[in-house]
Amino acid sequence: MSNLERKPHETLAGGLCAVSRSPTRRVLEPRDVPLGGVRAMFVRRTLPHRDLPTVGAWCFADDYGPSDVGATSGMNVPPHPHTGLQTVTWLLEGEVHHQDSLGSDQRVRPGQLNLMTAGRGIAHAETSPADHPPTLRGVQLWVALPDGERHVAPHFEHHDRLPVVADGALSATVVVGELAGERSPATAYTPLLGADVSVGVHGSGRLPLEAGFEHAVLALSDGVLVDGEPVGKAAMVYLGCGRSDVTLGGGAEGARLMLLGGAPFEEELLMWWNFVGRDHDEIVAFRSEWEASRGGAETRFASVRGYDGPALAAPELPTVRLRPRRRR
Ligand code: MN
Repeated sequence: MSNLERKPHETLAGGLCAVSRSPTRRVLEPRDVPLGGVRAMFVRRTLPHRDLPTVGAWCFADDYGPSDVGATSGMNVPPHPHTGLQTVTWLLEGEVHHQDSLGSDQRVRPGQLNLMTAGRGIAHAETSPADHPPTLRGVQLWVALPDGERHVAPHFEHHDRLPVVADGALSATVVVGELAGERSPATAYTPLLGADVSVGVHGSGRLPLEAGFEHAVLALSDGVLVDGEPVGKAAMVYLGCGRSDVTLGGGAEGARLMLLGGAPFEEELLMWWNFVGRDHDEIVAFRSEWEASRGGAETRFASVRGYDGPALAAPELPTVRLRPRRRR
């Protein structure tokens, strides 16, 4: 999806200043962000957060729905660009049709992963197919690429077979990275973990964690318990580094959550709209190339053939110019 905020701010992310080297418990409340163009649809955004810019290389986390799209055309996000990141499209309900400037044309359903590596630059559109199911619910996550690989050629992957780990009443689909010896086939550029976890009614299970990673849990339902403590629906709890395991439990209706983790991302990032870069001038250049490509020029952003309609215009640049923090 696109970041459809009308006036997005530049946001600093990455860097180590918010990283806790030892286990902690920091609850991050989501903010509601309207998705323009899709009626009555809001997303709940937990990353980047004022108190936590990244978890490992995870730099953006939206969850949305369930939305009733039975009587509407559903999702319609016109062609828009990305740089310096991977997009993870993960559905809990419904179906989304992905088309990109490489010619990829792929529907994704719950349990399947659409992973798009923007690298130096890509454009894509996401829509509900004409015959879409009546409910849409999912998460949209971005992974920042490290400096050495953020200019790789863009590529797209679809994975419909992902490993599952079980313990007690818990079942975890390994979307990205490795968990309990099971490895996702998805391409990752930094040590990373993303898992979709379901827990049965009043049940629990334990998962081993990589102690060098920082971890967080995004609660997708009511009833989520992390090490016995409740986490409100749509909130994220940051767990810090240095944990060898976590116990995840479910309430009266079970629980659904995303477990995110990764090696702390040392590089400082500058995020604006759909771009991840390193400084303001680079963001300005990405924006002007996107605008030129909409005018028909050949730039790093090719067009999305097969999408019927105009591409998204970039918002105005912010007037406040951010510089990366100086590391102490
Ligand atoms: Mn997108």
